[in-house]
Amino acid sequence: MREPEHDLESDFMSQHPLPENLHLDTLAVRAAMDRSQYGENSEALYLTSGYVQPSAEASARRFAGEEEGYTYGRSGNPTVSSFEMRLAAMEGTEAALATSSGMSSILLMLFSLLKSGDHVVYSQSMFGSTLKLIGSEFARFGVESTVVPQTDLAAWTAAIRPNTKILFAETPTNPLTEVCDIQALADLAHNAGAWLAVDNCFATPILQRPVDMGADIVMHSGTKYLDGQGRVMAGALCASEALITGKCLPVMKNGGMVLSPFNAWVVLKGLETLDIRMRAQSARAHEMATWLEQHPMVSRVHYPGLVSHPQHALAMKQMSHMGGAVLSFDVKAPDPQTARTRAFHVLDSLRVLSLCTNLGDTKTLLTHPASTSHGKLSEDQRQAAGIGQGLIRMAVGLEHVGDMQVDLLRGLDTL
Ligand SMILES: *Cc1c(COP(=O)(O)O)cnc(C)c1O
Repeated sequence: MREPEHDLESDFMSQHPLPENLHLDTLAVRAAMDRSQYGENSEALYLTSGYVQPSAEASARRFAGEEEGYTYGRSGNPTVSSFEMRLAAMEGTEAALATSSGMSSILLMLFSLLKSGDHVVYSQSMFGSTLKLIGSEFARFGVESTVVPQTDLAAWTAAIRPNTKILFAETPTNPLTEVCDIQALADLAHNAGAWLAVDNCFATPILQRPVDMGADIVMHSGTKYLDGQGRVMAGALCASEALITGKCLPVMKNGGMVLSPFNAWVVLKGLETLDIRMRAQSARAHEMATWLEQHPMVSRVHYPGLVSHPQHALAMKQMSHMGGAVLSFDVKAPDPQTARTRAFHVLDSLRVLSLCTNLGDTKTLLTHPASTSHGKLSEDQRQAAGIGQGLIRMAVGLEHVGDMQVDLLRGLDTL
């Protein structure tokens, strides 16, 4: 955030403001270009933790909030501001606040919007650390919560209490790509006087803009598709000025979960190719999902772009007719132990694609959820969550589809 008052226009930008109504792909390369006096065409990286003050009086005014100007890295940096403004432009929100990771953005949101005695409703299919942060860590401070099945609107409705402040959803989810209806959840939240927060990691603003469907807060792990090349950790919240500047910024300044300027610069440049990457990776994922569904050793493929997906129609309507770049599939097996052995065989036979617990990279990454992200659950809990021992998650990158298929067949055809 710009210090002390958030102002979207730098001196340069106010001399040459961008025209209104630009499209998302244009905003991705042009929005929030805070050009210095040197006229650089690629965004500058301001790698500094402190800022020299023009005078003691000006410094006093800046600290008092009476004058705009950077003071210290924990409360603002020009490179970080550019990333925030560009992401806000792409998500269609008034403001954004960048954080050190996706999880720290959730931490910031909960710290900023909740107090002891408040209640959160969230999906049981959310990211593992999100489940623990809300269900265990915040519970220690008296924040109540209820987990509900991702796609069961009646369960979300029944979970609402007078003290419910936040409904929190992630769509599509990891690793089963379950989709929920953002508009329906937004209506539910607003009727209850609560906010709807959406983790938009998997879809990104290229596929879906949750605020256009009524959501109040959009959360990102910039580590994933925003960076897009697996280089840095980053996170962000996108929302109204009232929420970002009014509620989250004061907590951020004292909490200090700031994004480093270098990481902000990497993610800022990552946004420039987000549109073409998401389209290309989503198209490849669709081809791979369709192909995997035909393989005799694959019992099921989870991918929103497939007609066999339980929320296919909703997903296509909500996600710009794309399925995203993550799919998962079950290797056929008579029992869990065999399923695990077979899944491991497929993963260990890879020579091109990576066995790697990340996603959103240009390199295709595969994981075995039952022994990694969902490894701490009991077998019963895993069964309930639909995460079998034969399940493999594939975060599809930019390799040639034919090469991906050959790499998977090395294992699938030798089971
Ligand atoms: C990775 C991820 C997070 C957490 O982000 P980090 O940058 O790893 O802290 C949250 N939600 C989803 C859906 C993710 O994939």
